[in-house]
Amino acid sequence: MENGIPGMAAGHRRAITRGLTISYDLILRNGRVIDPSQNLDAITDVAFAGGKVASIGGHNGAAADIRDVSGKIVTPGLIDLHTHVYWGGTSLGIDADEFARKSGVTTMVDTGSAGPGNFHGFRKHVIERSEARILAYLHISFAGIFAFSKRIMVGESGDLRLLAPREAVEVADKNRDVIVGIKVRVGQHASGTQGEAALDIALQVGEETGMPLMAHIDHPPPSYEHVIGRLRPGDVLTHAFRPFPNSPATAQGTVKSAVLEARKRGVVFDIGHGKGSFAFKTARAMLANGFEPDTISSDVHTLCINGPAYDQVTTLSKFLCLGMPLDRVIAASTVNAATALKRPELGSLKSGSVGDATILSIKEGKFDYEDVVGEHLIGDRRILSQGVVVAGKWWHPKRSNKFKRIEA
Ligand SMILES: [Zn+2]
Repeated sequence: MENGIPGMAAGHRRAITRGLTISYDLILRNGRVIDPSQNLDAITDVAFAGGKVASIGGHNGAAADIRDVSGKIVTPGLIDLHTHVYWGGTSLGIDADEFARKSGVTTMVDTGSAGPGNFHGFRKHVIERSEARILAYLHISFAGIFAFSKRIMVGESGDLRLLAPREAVEVADKNRDVIVGIKVRVGQHASGTQGEAALDIALQVGEETGMPLMAHIDHPPPSYEHVIGRLRPGDVLTHAFRPFPNSPATAQGTVKSAVLEARKRGVVFDIGHGKGSFAFKTARAMLANGFEPDTISSDVHTLCINGPAYDQVTTLSKFLCLGMPLDRVIAASTVNAATALKRPELGSLKSGSVGDATILSIKEGKFDYEDVVGEHLIGDRRILSQGVVVAGKWWHPKRSNKFKRIEA
């Protein structure tokens, strides 16, 4: 159960010290390593052993697998802080491994797909069987987000009978290896006439478990200002760069004062792109005021995986094209997300960290990006996933020719 990937550490070859020679499981050679957790941007090697990052720098040791990644970018394994991957158990769930493989993500954080009534199935049938890392925010609604599809849409926080604080505390407490926080959705779509009642309950579950909250907002009520006013340091507001209504920016293009205050207090601002929660207009206003998101996430689910969100690298590309510097875009999907999760062993290539890495390339040209209100942005760059390393192993069997194994 170490790091939420059952059985993954086991069976891995340990780094063996033979005199002065160390044998590694994998070396990524000659990539441009960008790791904001240690302010690193350099062309060098990354070596993995025993499922962990062994070291960065030139390596003379033997390795079972060596990949030449010259001309590519190597980052800590990307974390997508807002996903829905309870495939088959909830209508909005997508297939975790398939998504991770092609979108450069090594840790998917499922946010509230499951509640205490159906978390066990999520754990047994999805989390424990996935090769990619899955962590979860547990919904306080008994069956999580249970009716989210094209034609059937029932907001789970609109019926107080479904909210299950005692069960949520029990399940969260028993699954601390994979449950990182508590999820709640409030807004006209998610909580209807109940407004912020579910937030009251979620805050109590957060207190009782000592876990952070991730709060979703949509159309008011409740208002953006009201919800962030109630969040505690370390709690996450997702859908932070929503379009009007409930945008963080004023009509004049400034940042609302309640938003600035919440950031000062330590509330985490997460993107959660999804189908209805990210607008270029909002992002431009926020970035023009120097207000970058803390974390960038896709909120990938069945209704947005074929656009407008697509995946994490597309969501990151949008921020790059909006002018956010590359190292900070990467930080928003690595070290910042790990901090929000209170999992410092993730999102970093410091030696001893979990052995996850993502290999990226940046293509130049003209790329058409779309937000949730149908605005198009022609960007000049696109971040592409070229491969992933999960727990110290190259994880692209289907494209193994891409970076051919080379002899040590
Ligand atoms: Zn979501």
